[in-house]
Amino acid sequence: REAKNKMPQYKGLERFKLLDKMGDGAFSNVYKAVDLTTSQKVAVKVVRKFELNSTQARKHLNPQFKKRPRVTERANILKEVQIMRGISHPSVVKLISFSESEEHYFLVLELMEGGELFHQIVKLTYFSENLARHVILQVAHGIHYLHEERGVVHRDIKPENLLFDRIPIIPSKQPISRPYDEEKEDEGEFLPGVGGGGIGRVKIADFGLSKVVWNEETMTPCGTVGYTAPEIVKDERYSKSVDMWAMGCVLYTLLCGFPPFYDESINVLTEKVARGYYTFLSPWWDDISASAKDLITHLLCVDPAQRYTIDEFLAHPWCSESPAPLPEPT
Ligand code: ADP
Ligand code: MG
Repeated sequence: REAKNKMPQYKGLERFKLLDKMGDGAFSNVYKAVDLTTSQKVAVKVVRKFELNSTQARKHLNPQFKKRPRVTERANILKEVQIMRGISHPSVVKLISFSESEEHYFLVLELMEGGELFHQIVKLTYFSENLARHVILQVAHGIHYLHEERGVVHRDIKPENLLFDRIPIIPSKQPISRPYDEEKEDEGEFLPGVGGGGIGRVKIADFGLSKVVWNEETMTPCGTVGYTAPEIVKDERYSKSVDMWAMGCVLYTLLCGFPPFYDESINVLTEKVARGYYTFLSPWWDDISASAKDLITHLLCVDPAQRYTIDEFLAHPWCSESPAPLPEPT
């Protein structure tokens, strides 16, 4: 990273020295920073307060990142903060503090030095089953905590929002080029063995779209007090399943290096997702276990009532398979 890049100075953030930019979106910038009073390294998510309507917001977006425009309303950011405040789990990025100035909101977060899971997939093409299991189980334990203990649905689970706490040293198998990226023959380095050693922890970040669906005190659905319409009740019952679908997409992508649903045309893509049309494309899926495919099939299931819950996910045999013995170095 270019350290020569001059870091911006934000009024109201004098306590922190910004070191490096770690991510940016339509309305937020995330910086690696140091708390000058404690020398603690943190991440600071700076969210601009000014409001943009969707058309204006779209102009600010880099279409490559396909991020949804989001109006940074006070209520939204406070919801994100409130949800994060109630949360403490090793698989969830911690909110250390929150403050605001006239122009910005500042979320001081646990620093995830390793960056996005997304980048690791791009770098390696795809993960071995053992490594994919190691990663997805950490995410699954985080989701279990959110769904079953906090009544929170994340609603934006994707490789960009799953972060490594440190730069992972990841073993990979030899990659095959992607179906839609034939010319790109990236070479994954071959490091035998899978273990906790070089990988560290994966955590769930970005609660900007998350929602509490259960009343924490009574453990009943929010809003269902007898006058709530059936579609709302149904909606709440199935809302957790959106995270499970996303988990299926992440697991699929980890195992083969490309997403289950893909098309150049957004209309065709939308249609494929709506119909749940995906395949275990040969040759990329030839060597992947039937058990992994079975698990994915139960996640990428169009009917939310049939889709695995997080408990069913964790009970699937693939999740308790132990890593195979170390492969011979080639
Ligand atoms: P947005 O709502 O703009 O998607 P995110 O909270 O997802 O905001 O942050 C944007 C990006 O910033 C992430 O995808 C990630 O690359 C980086 N990032 C976010 N939080 C952290 C963190 N705690 N540590 C390191 N990088 C982070
Ligand atoms: Mg994000």
